[in-house]
Amino acid sequence: MEIEFCDLKKQYGYMKEEIDEAVSRVISRGDFINGREIKLLEEKCKDFVRAQYAIAVSSGTDALLISLMALDVQPGDVIVTTPFTFISTVEVITLLKAKPVFIDIDPNTFNLDCDKLEQYLNTTKEKVKGIIGVNIFGLCCDYNKIREIIKGRDIFLLEDGAQSFGSMYNSKMACALGDISITSFFPAKPLGCYGDGGMIFTDDINLAEKAKMIRNHGQIKKYTHNLIGINGRMDTIQAAILLVKLKHFDKEISNRVKNKLFYNRFLHPLINDKTIRIQRVEKDWESVVAQYSIIVDRREELIEWLSKNKIPTAIHYPTPLHLQPAFEYLGYKERDFPIAEYLSKHILSLPFDAYKSKEEIEFITRTIYQKIYKV
Ligand SMILES: *Cc1c(COP(=O)(O)O)cnc(C)c1O
Repeated sequence: MEIEFCDLKKQYGYMKEEIDEAVSRVISRGDFINGREIKLLEEKCKDFVRAQYAIAVSSGTDALLISLMALDVQPGDVIVTTPFTFISTVEVITLLKAKPVFIDIDPNTFNLDCDKLEQYLNTTKEKVKGIIGVNIFGLCCDYNKIREIIKGRDIFLLEDGAQSFGSMYNSKMACALGDISITSFFPAKPLGCYGDGGMIFTDDINLAEKAKMIRNHGQIKKYTHNLIGINGRMDTIQAAILLVKLKHFDKEISNRVKNKLFYNRFLHPLINDKTIRIQRVEKDWESVVAQYSIIVDRREELIEWLSKNKIPTAIHYPTPLHLQPAFEYLGYKERDFPIAEYLSKHILSLPFDAYKSKEEIEFITRTIYQKIYKV
């Protein structure tokens, strides 16, 4: 059996006619920038996450950057976040010459440890400007708890929902849980386009207006630039593709949840005897499972065995951000964040998408058993 890590070609096969038609419509019309589909997509996405405003942008990274600019982050401002995330989350802080402060993660959810966050806020002498919560692998941070902790402190909450478009937090949708929230439509994310794309969400009209201006060179009208901005627009073609994919997205989410449950069920004995650990999802939270990741000892041996059996895997992420060379100047060292470091050494993502069959997942898990139990 030949297994893809994330099979985007198979997905395209199901939607080929609709997507080809949508793309050629844009090309025939020629409104490649700020075309008709941008507004339509913003409308649909804002209704989907139940936010007041949605702003389509060029990537998840730019969505983060524009959000921080709209929040008026200045050089030296302290922004608290997790070291267990993709580089973008922290890259944008440092691009603005602000100062990232890391807090270790919770060993069960892999998200910001709220107790440690509270402890930091209670003891630090620094003025904290904001917090970036990252919904890792699709699982939301505990935003009610974070809100409680920052109540009355004048700290903004930015939700990095790049991996969680479609996830639920109690009865709320992910990507509408921060003062400002973002997602990414990178091809391999739960909802992906055919290139780069992202979206900003907020209920705050001032932030929305500002973000809209920053996205388009700070323009209030053509050639009048009120703010310093960037070129952060989404291509009309990407919006057209996303509009098609959005029609199939509810079905894909239920497929993703179903496939997660297949994995959980087939791996149950290993999870039960703690040979394998998985992310703990609270009752009433639902993750779109951006990655199905396991924690396992002797990871490298398992990777080799799976690869020998034509099963691709990936590591999200092999190095926590406080140990990245680019952030060496921040002065962190090994053992500063033991949970994040442990995870980076033991986490392993297994093949996952909405179109994997039960048989494929059974084959993958059977191959894992062969290695671990030598059967
Ligand atoms: C993918 C990702 C981003 C960046 O999104 P791009 O669209 O690739 O720029 C930011 N944060 C997290 C947590 C991500 O996983």
